[in-house]
Amino acid sequence: MDKMENLLQVKELKTHFMTMNGVVPSVNGVTFNIKKGEKVALVGESGSGKSVTSLSIMGLIEEPGKIVNGSIIFDERNLVDLREKEMEKIRGNDIAMIFQEPLTSLNPLFPVGKQIRESLLLHQKITRKEAKQRAIELLKKVGIPMPEQVYSSYPHSLSGGMRQRVMIAIALSCEPKLIIADEPTTALDVTIQAQILGILNELSELENTALLIITHDLGVVAEIADRVMVMYCGQIVEEADVFSIFDSPLHPYTEALLKSTPRLNGQEKLASIEGRVPNPLHMPKGCTFHTRCPYAIEKCSSNVPAIQEFRPNHHVRCWLADEEEGGIKIG
Ligand code: SF4
Repeated sequence: MDKMENLLQVKELKTHFMTMNGVVPSVNGVTFNIKKGEKVALVGESGSGKSVTSLSIMGLIEEPGKIVNGSIIFDERNLVDLREKEMEKIRGNDIAMIFQEPLTSLNPLFPVGKQIRESLLLHQKITRKEAKQRAIELLKKVGIPMPEQVYSSYPHSLSGGMRQRVMIAIALSCEPKLIIADEPTTALDVTIQAQILGILNELSELENTALLIITHDLGVVAEIADRVMVMYCGQIVEEADVFSIFDSPLHPYTEALLKSTPRLNGQEKLASIEGRVPNPLHMPKGCTFHTRCPYAIEKCSSNVPAIQEFRPNHHVRCWLADEEEGGIKIG
């Protein structure tokens, strides 16, 4: 991988929560890179640590949470070392975030156009009139019909899909290098979901903006991602390009996720993943997936597998990737 192209490099990141009952290692040694303009999905069940990873990048971890190890290099600066004031600048200018529920991010008291305009005024040296014009252009860009009218609409009068488009317009207003979208379409119905993902995809390609999509939904991944990282119990267990993940997954957890994803033809009976995500206060020893894994061998319950490159650019954290153990058997 050409290091010069990397926009974000997360290395050995650990974000832990110091609770009354003990330490919750929500993110436990995560390493990955995102190149300029690349679309990457971080996938896993709820509680896998994917949202905490994105909040760590944004500098939004609150007490009792804390980054206890690792670095987050963005554009050659380590975000972990920055003061809140500097982080605010990065959040406003270089990295934008889109959340699942736009209503929590939009101010209910102001028309959406005004909110985009204010964001533009904050980040660009332009007049109010120019900012209004640009806000209308942004509304148009994200596919909102009659943008001049919608400019004066209040958030509650718009549909969920329209609100999410407004959030994308606000994210774009700072011309970010990276957009982090945390379950951006989970609250929307399937048709609107596809539209929103289409817009994100198109804009990312048009503006060469990198995208980090956080999702539990492999359908979303298939629509948008170039590369996929699968997360389980605070660690990345598999990472590959989107085709390899869907066609030849290596990790038993990825296989289980795929089997539990509805197919378009709806003919296959869906399997659910056996068992539950372990209690983070009492993580199992060895491979954290061994309590649910149908392929577990003896050493899985005592020895932690390291992540390794099993095929070119296809990494997996599983003892079966070890030739001595007979190789990967799934699929
Ligand atoms: Fe399953 Fe063992 Fe691989 Fe873990 S290391 S995923 S328990 S086979």
